[in-house]
Amino acid sequence: MNIFVIMKRTFDTEEKIQIENGEVVEDGAEFIINPYDEYAVEEAIQLKEEHGGEVTVVSVGDEETEKQIRTALAMGADKGVLIEDEEIDGADTFTVQELLKAYFKEQEVDIILGGNIAVDGGSGQIGPRLADQLGINYVTSVTDLKIEDGTAKIEKDAEGDQIMIEVPLPVLITAQQGLNEPRYPSLPGIMKAKKKPLETLDLDDLDLDEEDVEPKTKTVDRYLPPEKQAGRKLEGELDEQVAELVSLLKNEAKVI
Ligand SMILES: Cc1cc2nc3c(=O)[nH]c(=O)nc-3n(C[C@H](O)[C@H](O)[C@H](O)COP(=O)(O)OP(=O)(O)OC[C@H]3O[C@@H](n4cnc5c(N)ncnc54)[C@H](O)[C@@H]3O)c2cc1C
Repeated sequence: MNIFVIMKRTFDTEEKIQIENGEVVEDGAEFIINPYDEYAVEEAIQLKEEHGGEVTVVSVGDEETEKQIRTALAMGADKGVLIEDEEIDGADTFTVQELLKAYFKEQEVDIILGGNIAVDGGSGQIGPRLADQLGINYVTSVTDLKIEDGTAKIEKDAEGDQIMIEVPLPVLITAQQGLNEPRYPSLPGIMKAKKKPLETLDLDDLDLDEEDVEPKTKTVDRYLPPEKQAGRKLEGELDEQVAELVSLLKNEAKVI
């Protein structure tokens, strides 16, 4: 099987986000594989273990993204592809979709696995948009996946309910929490990953010009939510507390 994972490098979810002049401060921050994409990598490796074939991890990023691709290779993926170009001036979902589309148009695909959502950008658009552009089926928020006779048998999370879907290959799926338990890279895996192929592609390689991937949207501002004010504890006898609470709801919060 030709198994692909689309993977994003994201902020470590433990990191405290700081914003300066409308930009997220990246200096000194830890970066990881987007957590939902770890499920995608794990599922891809399990599919290969069961059905044979090859797992290729594809990411649009910069040279720093090599580290996360190598981690996926250490988990057990076979090949990495990094799409990067200094000419790419900013990127939005359109940009990333176009770059991935150009790459995948040249590939024989059985299945593409991605994350349900990126924990930083959070639009959840890349998977469905890419599938649409490639003209293949997609199923989002997948919690169980089996491939039998060219058909993907899928369990999908729908706001706490489960839906069973069968869809012929090729298909793109996005992984939801619970799909599997991603493995940690083993020491031999880390050693092997250093020698696995990691191809870097730029706009020329993908037969694209800068204008072809120009963002369609512009981020005009970024800001953190206002800091929460400390809560207030009411003191005194119960009837006094009730009276004060009613007064606060009426005069301060103005909700009654
Ligand atoms: C080189 C580069 C420059 C950027 N510059 C800017 C900028 O100037 N301003 C700005 O606001 N934003 C910028 N971005 C962020 C960009 O807009 C988002 O990465 C993109 O729109 C994806 O949206 P998302 O994060 O909501 O992903 P989602 O759609 O939520 O991601 C869902 C899934 O899609 C896949 N996916 C997402 N992103 C990638 C990727 N890069 N490669 C492979 N698979 C992926 C993963 O499987 C992921 O789990 C940049 C990103 C890159 C890579």
